Amino acid sequence: MNNNMRRPPKSSDVAPTGVYDVDELRTQCRAIGISPQRSNMRRVRQALDLLNHGSVAFDHRDQTNEFYWVDSQTHPDTVYRVRKNGQVECNCADASQGNQCKHQIAVLLFNEQFK
Ligand SMILES: [Zn+2]
Repeated sequence: MNNNMRRPPKSSDVAPTGVYDVDELRTQCRAIGISPQRSNMRRVRQALDLLNHGSVAFDHRDQTNEFYWVDSQTHPDTVYRVRKNGQVECNCADASQGNQCKHQIAVLLFNEQFK
């Protein structure tokens, strides 16, 4: 008997992740104006997964901002709010540490795709 069997993940637990070419990740970094360093390429990969799973939604705009919702990849019940005006802001932990988080990147890539 295999004692290491674990409950298979529910579909909502773990989103399947896509496989991306490193050159494509670099190209996407440049497209949204962030340096193609390893940590950013990881965030871009995660952001592409968010986009491919329909996890980015435009909410509304006011005179100076656009507002988006981006699903959390790790907490199925959590949604982050991303505000875009020249900059992008997100209320997640990664962004609060001064990083350009995967949610912000997902919104930037979303705009690249649909403009
Ligand atoms: Zn974020």
